[in-house]
Amino acid sequence: QRAEFAALRDLPAITADGTRVTVMVNAGLRDDAAAIHLVGADGIGLFRTEFQFLVSAALPRRESQQRLYRSVLESAGDKPVIFRTLDVGGDKALPYLQSGDGDDQEENPAMGWRALRLALDRDGLLKAQARALLEAAAGRQLNIMFPMVSEPWEFDAAREIVEQQKNWLAERRKLLPSRISYGAMLEVPALAETLDLLLPKIDFLSIGTNDLTQFLFAADRAHPKLAERYDWLSPAILRFLARIVRQASAAGVPVGVCGEMGGRTLEAMALIGLGIERFSITPVAVGPIKAMIRSLDRSALLPVMEQLLATPPSDMRGTLSRWAEDNGI
Ligand code: PEP
Ligand code: MG
Repeated sequence: QRAEFAALRDLPAITADGTRVTVMVNAGLRDDAAAIHLVGADGIGLFRTEFQFLVSAALPRRESQQRLYRSVLESAGDKPVIFRTLDVGGDKALPYLQSGDGDDQEENPAMGWRALRLALDRDGLLKAQARALLEAAAGRQLNIMFPMVSEPWEFDAAREIVEQQKNWLAERRKLLPSRISYGAMLEVPALAETLDLLLPKIDFLSIGTNDLTQFLFAADRAHPKLAERYDWLSPAILRFLARIVRQASAAGVPVGVCGEMGGRTLEAMALIGLGIERFSITPVAVGPIKAMIRSLDRSALLPVMEQLLATPPSDMRGTLSRWAEDNGI
């Protein structure tokens, strides 16, 4: 089987009926970027910039952030990289970063002072990171996305910080990225309710199914007793996602999935059935997911998914699994 996936490396992820699906990888460290070429991915769809902060004993300086981003872009070559701004706080606490008010113990860190919330309060961090990203991507396209956007104004505020840094560099006649593409992560359910307001502002949307599932089901993503309890293939998740995909597609905004859900064969198949055409997944999943895509008749699946969402069977997973089997997947 390994040899079979290796043979897929140089083949594009195209469904049997001709839809090109973008399959990128999730990464976080310098050497991860090489995975793109090893597994034959279309780029890095989620670069978790907080990894550098988590493995450092002290706050990484702007220069060292810039060096990392540049080297990642270099190893990606002409493949795109989507940098996610710092997603620290919560369970990814940095010992050297404290709120300063002596109130760092959180009852619910996943729902706490983390990610974009922290970045907007401590905007010095985001400013330095934005500058490092702009400098690293000088002369090429910069793709940047913000984690845990809960309301559209947070996206505006974060984008404004990046734009200010860009203007600062422009005033000094520095080489800028050829284009900046701004995205938001949808992982807080509330954002779905104001998506119509956000969509005109963004260049792309990336659904983080790890956090989204945790918040939709109110179930800690790391709790062992809950790990098997709620299924990614439940009608609740699938209907929720279907609505987002429909809205984003109608607005002409590319929408992808970057959570672990997309790295599992049956789940990824269901996502394609909802209209998802962009994935960012763990590198080891690229082979199996490409194999699934290349054997999938997407046009046959779309109406099946629609019908299953309208009248969900009691065993959605079993039903989808049987469909996959009957259809040579
Ligand atoms: C997610 O929440 O689905 C996601 C991709 O981000 P992380 O796993 O880094 O929280
Ligand atoms: Mg997340």
